[in-house]
Amino acid sequence: MLIMMKTDIGEPYVPQVVLAVGAHADDIDFGASGSLAAWAKQGAHIEYLVMTDGSKGSSDLAIHPEDLIATRQKEQRAAAKLLGAKEVHFFGYEDGNLELTQELKKRIVKLIRQLRPDTVVVMDPTMVYSSKLGFVNHTDHRVAGQATLDAVYPFTRDHLSFPDLYAEGLKPHKVAHLLLINLEKHNCFIDISETLDLKLDVLCTHVSQIPDVQKVRAMLEARAKSLGQEAGMRYAEGFIRLDLPL
Ligand SMILES: [Zn+2]
Repeated sequence: MLIMMKTDIGEPYVPQVVLAVGAHADDIDFGASGSLAAWAKQGAHIEYLVMTDGSKGSSDLAIHPEDLIATRQKEQRAAAKLLGAKEVHFFGYEDGNLELTQELKKRIVKLIRQLRPDTVVVMDPTMVYSSKLGFVNHTDHRVAGQATLDAVYPFTRDHLSFPDLYAEGLKPHKVAHLLLINLEKHNCFIDISETLDLKLDVLCTHVSQIPDVQKVRAMLEARAKSLGQEAGMRYAEGFIRLDLPL
């Protein structure tokens, strides 16, 4: 399977090692699981980072937060496995209370220096709201995006940032590509025509977050089709691609 990337920036490429970062279980799968699945089929090594514990987003008045946390982790692990990812890391911060701290950035730096990805996928922190789509972007999404960008540049690159990590043997690393999930702006499209069905199945593993599976499937298919039309593909996912100097 040849993966098509249509990009206004740099040359098309297939990532080798990817860290996909989300604030909550399911964030990555909504925005990027078609591309991740396509890259995994092509041999890419993919790992997930989920920053919060998902302990708040339920309308079930009887549910205990501890049970919700366990369910969210189980669902995210199943989703990642289904698309071919190797590992899911959970930072366990309280849902709705993710803060932009040096401690958070340091934990991301540590993970990036261990995994050494060429590509990091994360939500664009500049997406605060969309009047076109009628939504406010969740505060945790924006914090996750900002902390990840800060970790990629400059902290992961510089050995003098968090010197105790360097002393542990975690050498500096330069991430070559950032692919930012932004619902309105795109300069890079990945063809997911062959992985759309898998993406829909991946989303459906998040049972506790998706009350109406048919509605979500229809919404995702329509979105992938519309992005595909923009890119000249049947179905696509769109990103803002940013190439960093190596
Ligand atoms: Zn979310």
